[in-house]
Amino acid sequence: MRITFLGTGTSHGVPMIGCACAVCRSDDPRDTRTRPSILIELPALSESRSGESNGFRLLVDTTPDLRAQALRHGVDRVDAVFYTHPHADHIFGFDDLRRFNHLTRQPLSAYGDERTLAAIRRTFSYAYDPDAPKGGGVPDIRLCPVAGPFGMGGHEIEPIPVMHGGTPVNGLRIGRFAYLTDCNVIPPASMARLEGLDVLVLDALRHKPHPTHFRVDESVAIAAALAPRRPFFTHMAHDLPHAETCAALPPGVSLAYDGLVIECR
Ligand SMILES: [Zn+2]
Ligand SMILES: [Zn+2]
Ligand SMILES: [Zn+2]
Repeated sequence: MRITFLGTGTSHGVPMIGCACAVCRSDDPRDTRTRPSILIELPALSESRSGESNGFRLLVDTTPDLRAQALRHGVDRVDAVFYTHPHADHIFGFDDLRRFNHLTRQPLSAYGDERTLAAIRRTFSYAYDPDAPKGGGVPDIRLCPVAGPFGMGGHEIEPIPVMHGGTPVNGLRIGRFAYLTDCNVIPPASMARLEGLDVLVLDALRHKPHPTHFRVDESVAIAAALAPRRPFFTHMAHDLPHAETCAALPPGVSLAYDGLVIECR
């Protein structure tokens, strides 16, 4: 499978509006971070009628930067969406899903826990209220609640429950890849489901403590405990200059950055 990091920044993005710090003014492109999202391309299990191999594309979260992210990476098709949780930095690009509806002439399925999908239904009520005016079209998104592993495009997706402050949210595992954005506690039962990973992507907001996100040193400790072959950090604030932070991390651990593409078994 192939993973594209569409965005690796915290909720404000980097640079932040009205900030003149060194990271916000950096000309290293890896210090420009849009809101956090990844695109997972899963290999097709069978060939299409034309003989082309057409993988299954799962978008994880729809950030306020979704339109720019899709344009930058030439994403012209999404087959399903997985929502980790309903914070604004993870759902506010929901309306941009309309383009994928138009391009495929199909509804799109969005998976997430009950609480997340209820928040989406409430926040984007115009898409679900039969009486809402439909001028300009509304996203056609079928909300599919999940409470455990589920199948998609012939692959098994395993939601991984983690804590984000006092709120339970989901990471996900597919094969030997796991993505845990927005968390500060991984319960023991979930730790047990994260063994044998090739790639682990983990929240690492900054060095200072935060009530709902892992600090860099906490994420380093988790990466050491789980020992994935390649650990990457995401959801970074402007406190973390890319080059300098990576140089200080243990060997093999790195910050992800917008546009990074990795292959994973
Ligand atoms: Zn700044
Ligand atoms: Zn969050
Ligand atoms: Zn977030």
